[in-house]
Amino acid sequence: MSKILEVKNLNIGFDLIDGFKQAIYNVSFSLEKGKTLAIVGESGCGKTISTMSVLQLLPETAKIKSGEIFYNGENILSFSQKQMQKIRGKKIALIPQDPMTSLNPLYTVGNQLLEVIELHQGLKGKEAYDVAVNSLERVKIPDAKEKMKSYPHEFSGGMKQRVIIAMALACNAEIIIADEPTTALDVTVQAQIMDILHEVKEKYGLSVILITHDLGIVAQNADKVAVMYSGRIVEYADVEELFKNPKHPYTKALLNVILDVNSTKVETIEGQPPSITDEIKGCPFHLRCKDCMDICKKEEPVLKQINEESQTACHLYD
Ligand code: SF4
Repeated sequence: MSKILEVKNLNIGFDLIDGFKQAIYNVSFSLEKGKTLAIVGESGCGKTISTMSVLQLLPETAKIKSGEIFYNGENILSFSQKQMQKIRGKKIALIPQDPMTSLNPLYTVGNQLLEVIELHQGLKGKEAYDVAVNSLERVKIPDAKEKMKSYPHEFSGGMKQRVIIAMALACNAEIIIADEPTTALDVTVQAQIMDILHEVKEKYGLSVILITHDLGIVAQNADKVAVMYSGRIVEYADVEELFKNPKHPYTKALLNVILDVNSTKVETIEGQPPSITDEIKGCPFHLRCKDCMDICKKEEPVLKQINEESQTACHLYD
């Protein structure tokens, strides 16, 4: 299976008032063509920052200290903004949490689709119009021709997300980065959007990076999973292995948080993850870990191969 995207040893930090603070530590992951990689973890664990670095869409204060990001074999971290414009939105599309960050309320959905088709595909007139209508139909938007004339506010949250997916399809995107794409939607609409994402991935051979904190969505949609904690990947595994045989105590704790339908009690993970300004000694999870040992307070564990399907960073496996 060929890798369409490979992130290697990424280190990112922020220039804060009291100096540079590292937020992402040696993060490496890869995305295989036609597959879905889920990146999971609590808020602030670094999943969005790691992924936005692929699109070079980081906040101004963020700095990539080191690392490489290969897209189709080329290190795009060395690309200029001009070169990135040819990739961003065209080859690698983003489905954000809030679709209104990508849609302009002042223009019709049709105008916005035609604009990206002209920009990224160089098509105009009837040719561009046909591609636009077809892309809306591919994401099951009814009366696509009529909907071309509508403004974003006339669409529900779920329909707006479909429009964003349609834009990615209209540009023949190869990779979709979906950043918590269903968080703002109700449960039924969430399932519809995930079904559409799954369908377009299967039909058009897209590769997907799915950023989420919802392990239910991961179980149904991902092939591979990277679990992040405090800016590090602490477990990296095939989806089946992760759910059947989780290794890292943080992964186990996350899985325990999922409410068992027959249970009335939800287990929570006690404590808070460290902030980027905290000095961390040893394993970043040790203050919350039920299996913490002496060594965990002194030495940070490194990510290592446990079996063919999984890697974890935990002294329990030394
Ligand atoms: Fe827990 Fe130690 Fe493993 Fe960290 S290294 S997760 S503290 S057992």
